[in-house]
Amino acid sequence: MTASASSTRNVAIIGAGPAGLIAAQRLAEAGVKVVVYEAKPSVARKFLLAGRGGLNLTHSEDILSFLSRYADGESWVKDWIAGFSPEDLRAWSLDLGVETFIGTSGRVFPEDFRAKGLLRAWLQRLGQLGVELKTNQRWVGFATDGVMMQEKEGDQYEIRPDAVLFALGGGSYAHMGADAKWIPVFKEQGVEVTPLQASNVGFNVPWSDFFKNSFQGQPLKNIALKIDGKCKPGEAMLTRYGIEGNAIYALSASLREQLSRDGEMILKIDLKPSMNETHLLNKLKSGPGRKSLSSYLKSQLKLTSQAVALLREFTDSADFSEMPKLAELIKNCPVKLTGLASMDKAISTAGGIKQSSVDKNLMLKAFTGYFVAGEMLDWEAPTGGYLLQACFSSGVYAAGKITDYLHQKS
Ligand SMILES: Cc1cc2nc3c(=O)[nH]c(=O)nc-3n(C[C@H](O)[C@H](O)[C@H](O)COP(=O)(O)OP(=O)(O)OC[C@H]3O[C@@H](n4cnc5c(N)ncnc54)[C@H](O)[C@@H]3O)c2cc1C
Repeated sequence: MTASASSTRNVAIIGAGPAGLIAAQRLAEAGVKVVVYEAKPSVARKFLLAGRGGLNLTHSEDILSFLSRYADGESWVKDWIAGFSPEDLRAWSLDLGVETFIGTSGRVFPEDFRAKGLLRAWLQRLGQLGVELKTNQRWVGFATDGVMMQEKEGDQYEIRPDAVLFALGGGSYAHMGADAKWIPVFKEQGVEVTPLQASNVGFNVPWSDFFKNSFQGQPLKNIALKIDGKCKPGEAMLTRYGIEGNAIYALSASLREQLSRDGEMILKIDLKPSMNETHLLNKLKSGPGRKSLSSYLKSQLKLTSQAVALLREFTDSADFSEMPKLAELIKNCPVKLTGLASMDKAISTAGGIKQSSVDKNLMLKAFTGYFVAGEMLDWEAPTGGYLLQACFSSGVYAAGKITDYLHQKS
């Protein structure tokens, strides 16, 4: 680490999630004095939560496919990833002593699947670099030459660093810290913000009492979801309120759009994507005979109990006596969606600070020296490691631009 002109400069990072912490690391490595302010009593709570189900850090697919996961027009995400790629993220983890591996789906995980060990090593590194972490410190507003902070249940105080990076997150799982309370304060200052919407979220389904009592918490494996000519293979999870899971999240932007237009919709699920309709019909040509339909479908097609029950949930049982109709329904099982689950249950939120409100350095046009990074910016991606990658990459990008800004100032 070399001392530089910027070593006399100090930067406040507000929000200790992955975007803020990686920026802190990069700035400290460049010789900048960094203080990270976090509203919660501990840091990176959502990152730790993400690790509970298997921390999907990034994805191993080729870079063009990778970039295509971000919506059209989100060219800024591409700039961030150009400077800190999925390979760079894996190398960063390895540098902290945590190897990563590629799962069968191409997703990348830390060797133990969890976030805890990686976070521990990361915080140790930040400590060695001299980064100061201040918890229970909430940013509450802008001040003439700095920002206003408030210690939990304490008085407000002003800080005047040479630059500020906001990395306050989106709006899902608010109890983890990212509660979107920054939005009205930013808007009041003329920063344009696209309203937050739940993304990578489940959908409400009006299940019968029998179905929800019998099958909540059960997975639907080896299925494919069909919408607008798109077919998304994967898995879904049946819940009390509806349906969620990776295949659902991958289509959540299209489903959300259709629901906001039509109020409700029918999602078609292919319960046997490995067979086409002709193959399926061949398998079913003998008919159930004296067997119940349920045991017939289980033995002939290896459908699970929940898949057979799903088939019955929104269809007319009279259709099951004709094998061609039954085959068609198995390939296009209708499920009625009536709305999005609440934002609080979402993996991420779409919306946030508009690209038009920041310059190419991720500095707010309204405030010189105030930068932004992470999920609080207006971009969207499915699950698969694309969320964390964009948060990390934007943090690295912003840190580089802040370093340049400090050099220009000195
Ligand atoms: C259940 C779950 C599982 C997930 N799994 C994955 C996964 O496997 N892979 C993946 O890519 N993504 C996953 N995600 C998404 C990913 O965790 C987020 O996209 C990512 O954490 C966002 O990073 P961030 O740094 O922008 O914001 P956050 O991680 O939300 O951090 C923002 C921080 O700012 C703090 N803060 C907010 N307001 C203030 C304030 N006023 N003053 C001070 N501090 C403040 C918050 O307390 C928080 O610590 C998951 C999310 C959830 C909820």
